[in-house]
Amino acid sequence: MNYYSTNKQAAQASLEEAVIKGLAGDKGLYMPERIRRLDEAVIRNLKNRTFHETACAVAQAFFGEDLERDTLEAIVKDTLSFDTPVVRVKEAVYSLELYHGPTLAFKDVGARFMARLLGHFIGKRGLKQVNVLVATSGDTGSAVANGFLGVEGIHVYVLYPKGKVSPIQECQFTTLGRNITALEIDGTFDDCQALVKAAFTDEELNRQKMLTSANSINVARFLPQSFYYFHAYAQLDKAGRAEQLVVSVPSGNFGNITAGLFARQMGLPVKRFIAANNRNDVFLEYLNTGTYNPRPSVSTLANAMDVGDPSNFARILDLYGADETTHRTITQFISGCRFTDEEIADAITRVHAADSYLLDPHGACGYLALEQKLQKGETGLFLETAHPAKFKDTIDAILHTDIEIPAKLQAFMKGTKQSTALSKDFAAFKDYLLGK
Ligand SMILES: *Cc1c(COP(=O)(O)O)cnc(C)c1O
Repeated sequence: MNYYSTNKQAAQASLEEAVIKGLAGDKGLYMPERIRRLDEAVIRNLKNRTFHETACAVAQAFFGEDLERDTLEAIVKDTLSFDTPVVRVKEAVYSLELYHGPTLAFKDVGARFMARLLGHFIGKRGLKQVNVLVATSGDTGSAVANGFLGVEGIHVYVLYPKGKVSPIQECQFTTLGRNITALEIDGTFDDCQALVKAAFTDEELNRQKMLTSANSINVARFLPQSFYYFHAYAQLDKAGRAEQLVVSVPSGNFGNITAGLFARQMGLPVKRFIAANNRNDVFLEYLNTGTYNPRPSVSTLANAMDVGDPSNFARILDLYGADETTHRTITQFISGCRFTDEEIADAITRVHAADSYLLDPHGACGYLALEQKLQKGETGLFLETAHPAKFKDTIDAILHTDIEIPAKLQAFMKGTKQSTALSKDFAAFKDYLLGK
């Protein structure tokens, strides 16, 4: 299947090209030229299938033309060595816990899938080395580093702002070694991102090195995120709770919710979606006014959602025609919400006290959106995108607790930190990559 660019200027690409390049030549995002619907019978029968079987059926619809069935199933199997359970929080409100992977956040799924798929294409083409550059404010770096750890033919450079990621986050990508290099940049997250962007457009660097990105602009990272929407539906259907399903997605770059919208286009019976935001609310403003006005992000307790210009917005527009009817179409089944840090903290406190359920600051936005918008007769599902212990300091300060750190996270904390300090100067970064 071919992939076109949302900017419509670049030539179409094969899956292989789209995955290796990440972004299209015209700086648009790649979109599959067709979204295949699953048969209704298949969807009705999801409740009798395992997560692996469900994910294989979805993966086949996207990637079946481009990969042998065995290869694809092996990649899916390797991606999903952990489950994503649906947990009931209270009457009609369920949490989809996406944090049972190696770094305890949903990005593990996409990162792992992309690592395996890219590894496969590199082997097939006989490429020597592809370099993955990733700027992180914390969570993306750890998921990408762990997903790509030990994959042959790939070297990962994680750029992170010195002193601005939590110690737990930092040890998840600085202690791995092997094909993972952590670069501690003397600057902010925006400086890290600017270095990565500058690298992708530097001619000399791209002549000498194969560079690609591993954030949710890459189709191999965001499409697999549709797997768990089907799996969540299956679990609710089994419990007799899948009618009038409303899915609330804590959103930053909007990759996760876009994968949900793809699932709906494939026939998954979701009545509507809610994009739950923190104070970074450009999408809500678009829903309310029809005007998209990107701006610099502000810091919040849900920092993985501190995004002022969500990259997957272009995909959402494209999915619904990118014309004068698009705004009306979108507002028919996507609504938005914004929450302040005070509201997030309050939700964490209330849900812990009343329902004995521990939310993380991102999941708290998803929960709050349901509390605000769920109507009679609907079942609400929010995505719990990270384990609360990843934000231990925040949670402990809010609840006056000392929450336990899961063994998986503790294991990272025992490793030795290895990182290379660099300034935020592009020339120095470029020299470093070129081995000068
Ligand atoms: C990345 C992230 C999000 C936002 O996901 P998008 O796909 O960027 O919208 C939400 N919560 C957590 C914990 C994250 O790491």
